[in-house]
Amino acid sequence: MEKETDVIIVGTGAAGLFCALQLPESEKITIITKDDAQNSDSFLAQGGICVLRSEEDFDGYFEDTMKAGHYRNNRDSVEMMIRSSRGIIDLLLGYGVEFERRNGELAYTREGGHSRPRILFHEDITGKEITGKLLEQAKKRGNIAIYEHTEMIDLLCQDNICYGIVAADRWGKVFPVQAKHTVLACGGIGGLYRHSTNFAHLTGDGIAVALRHGIQLLDVNFVQIHPTTLYSKKPGRRFLISESVRGEGAVLYNAKMERFVDELLPRDVVTAAIEKQMELDEKPYVWLSMERIAKEDILNHFPNIYQRCLEEGYDVTKECIPVVPGQHYFMGGIQSDLDGRTSMECLYAVGETSCNGVHGANRLASNSLLESLVFARRAAKDIASENMPAEQKSGIQGNAAELFLPENYTDKKKLCQENKEMVRQEIERMKKEYEQQHNHDVKCG
Ligand SMILES: Cc1cc2nc3c(=O)[nH]c(=O)nc-3n(C[C@H](O)[C@H](O)[C@H](O)COP(=O)(O)OP(=O)(O)OC[C@H]3O[C@@H](n4cnc5c(N)ncnc54)[C@H](O)[C@@H]3O)c2cc1C
Repeated sequence: MEKETDVIIVGTGAAGLFCALQLPESEKITIITKDDAQNSDSFLAQGGICVLRSEEDFDGYFEDTMKAGHYRNNRDSVEMMIRSSRGIIDLLLGYGVEFERRNGELAYTREGGHSRPRILFHEDITGKEITGKLLEQAKKRGNIAIYEHTEMIDLLCQDNICYGIVAADRWGKVFPVQAKHTVLACGGIGGLYRHSTNFAHLTGDGIAVALRHGIQLLDVNFVQIHPTTLYSKKPGRRFLISESVRGEGAVLYNAKMERFVDELLPRDVVTAAIEKQMELDEKPYVWLSMERIAKEDILNHFPNIYQRCLEEGYDVTKECIPVVPGQHYFMGGIQSDLDGRTSMECLYAVGETSCNGVHGANRLASNSLLESLVFARRAAKDIASENMPAEQKSGIQGNAAELFLPENYTDKKKLCQENKEMVRQEIERMKKEYEQQHNHDVKCG
């Protein structure tokens, strides 16, 4: 692996790959990933990707996003995401992504928190369809090199300017990679939780390096719990039962087989209702029934969910399945502006690792793939403008590798363990701080 590049991107999810594809082909781009290239949460996305269908839906889409986010969203980010959505879909179609169509026209589905259908989908494997096609494109580009099982363990930085990363390869060899621009696209934090829908290797590494180097974070107290993951006694990643199942008519039942909540309320509200119900029922799950959806629709729209449940012993066309809430998404992250810039020069953050406030306190279903793509593209454009401080330019011409001190990385395992603990503690600290502030605001009226 070359130790100097123009742009180093950490992560082969939708955000990292799209950023790479949107950069000029004259840039030398290196992408690394901790695992196999297709092992990212982007590949797991089931439900779909939102889009502004027509100008007439702008206010509705904006309001749904704000309402789900408890109005703690950054309005400029929300507007930017919605306004850019059609252009993003056109680019995806150009890369060969296929969405469900009816009579030749794009078909839209609906999920919890949406006042109308505005979600494009590909069966129930939309993330695989989109990210797989992006990966295919990236592999074709002569200017993009992808290294699997290569992990970022630190940043190369000085005086708040980023000069690249410190990486470890699959054999544990640690080395610096110098770059004019560094993009963190390293996803969420599910690997820090016992029950999560995320890949276990997603452990908030971007957040950890940000904490180590005083890079600004935002909203790290906002962690989304998905209301419906398939209940299982087995350890490991929880299988998600997409919200679009409820959007298409599935309902929740308590132990007495009675409905107890409006299933299309935003995620956090449904989660709270399920948790309360589990306590009342003294059960570790509630039931989800797909009996109101025609068998043919289940098999066409949700083949992956159907198959996976069958493997777990449930035929969703005939019986209810047990579901339980699980950690799903991280609304907070490294604070970024609308161009993905962080508080450190030449360092960008995009996708789930970043936070520009677009989701507020709670993400609206199917907004995250879109958000990842919109702001990854904007970051690529900003990088292409070659806007960088003089020190950075001379740092590359000089030897930024001197910033790499091998003695700091002799025990990589310990460092990674410390990183995880640091992120956990920061989330807990910020949650407490937020609750205190919230209680104070309520008391003061
Ligand atoms: C089960 C499931 C279903 C979902 N369904 C939907 C949906 O229907 N619609 C929607 O909009 N969103 C959905 N989401 C959310 C969405 O998939 C993610 O938020 C989004 O894809 C994040 O993309 P990303 O590129 O930021 O991160 P990811 O796709 O998670 O990619 C992160 C990448 O960073 C790499 N990485 C991490 N740390 C390091 C490190 N230290 N060094 C090197 N590499 C590293 C990982 O290996 C990976 O390649 C779903 C999520 C899950 C888990």
